[in-house]
Amino acid sequence: MEKNEREEIKNQIIKLIQELESEISELSENDKTVAPDNAIGRLTRMEAMQAQNINNATLNNKRKRLIRLKDTLGKIDSPYFGECKGCGEEIEISRLRASPEANVCSECIRQNQKK
Ligand SMILES: [Zn+2]
Repeated sequence: MEKNEREEIKNQIIKLIQELESEISELSENDKTVAPDNAIGRLTRMEAMQAQNINNATLNNKRKRLIRLKDTLGKIDSPYFGECKGCGEEIEISRLRASPEANVCSECIRQNQKK
């Protein structure tokens, strides 16, 4: 991986972390407003609970991704950053741009899906 590519991915991670942190705090706010007793308006209690479940699932996924991204940021200066855990080749830069936390290349994912 080129130095400038690494720098680019690093900035991308920082940006994603900031976005996720603000999304997470927004979703956590929603969580409070959909308390069971607040099922007002057109939402029934059941609908409010469903909405809350979806909200919680989204929140969990975002939190997990945030942890992975922070972890990735800590490893970005390692000489092994961007190396595929499966085959040891470099992970495609286009893939890293979209998901910097990826640790296997697209080819290995394809191989895994065949199994
Ligand atoms: Zn691979």
